[in-house]
Amino acid sequence: MDGHSKNTAFSFPDGDVILVSSDGLEFQVHKLILSLASPFFRDMFKLPQVESPKPLQSVTMTEDAGTLEALLKIVYPTEAEDVSPEVAISACRAAEKLQFSKVSSMMHYRLQPILETLKNPLEAWAIAVQLNSRQLSKDARIRFIKANTRDCFNPRPKHLNVVPVERYAALINEKEVIIKEARSKLVETLIYGYQGSIGRPACLDPRCRTCGTFAEAYVFLTSNLNPFDPACTSMTILRECFGRALLENRSCQRWKAGAPPDESDREAMQSKLREALSLVT
Ligand SMILES: [Zn+2]
Repeated sequence: MDGHSKNTAFSFPDGDVILVSSDGLEFQVHKLILSLASPFFRDMFKLPQVESPKPLQSVTMTEDAGTLEALLKIVYPTEAEDVSPEVAISACRAAEKLQFSKVSSMMHYRLQPILETLKNPLEAWAIAVQLNSRQLSKDARIRFIKANTRDCFNPRPKHLNVVPVERYAALINEKEVIIKEARSKLVETLIYGYQGSIGRPACLDPRCRTCGTFAEAYVFLTSNLNPFDPACTSMTILRECFGRALLENRSCQRWKAGAPPDESDREAMQSKLREALSLVT
């Protein structure tokens, strides 16, 4: 006996190969299954076997038991199970090395809801970058753009430490571009009116003081806010701007006296924000 203990989930009596994890746990599994899932194992098992007194071939792995178990749970037809981001990252790395081509995409698929529910989008992004997943990183980037950056550092995301600083710089740059675009789309619609079917029609006077004051008040009141902050499209802020515009005491096509901002204005602004977000690649 070599003193290794056995993994209970993967200890098939008819298994014909034993994988030994780096922390000494044995997985008695099937060569056929491993060969079908991975060219790496297929080639390994094709080699002529050395005659040994042991009844089963044993392969010592550099992966720990948690990683091997996560891999095998995808390779074998078992129920989907939640994995922690840490296990998913090491399983994806191992899957790449051991050429389990379907494992990475399955792991990304299972991780999606986990990353979506992570409170800190910067943490979700850092994990997605390590996994090299474009889709997961896009979801997280959109959440990060909409979030207050300072909140994402309280506490500091621990996976950020292993992300190259250029990747983080590119993310911040992208956030700035989108926020600038969103802010200018909002202000533009407040000055010139909304195009399309929602919202109120444009003011026909491009130099209208009522519209101008409305837009100025809006820029002033929201200058320190992320345009995706719900406060930026709240009725409270729209009514506040409307109140200041009315001080001009001139009615215009758009903000006629007695026609305060309503839900349609909010919807039109929301649609502008979605337009800005659609620039995220
Ligand atoms: Zn006007």
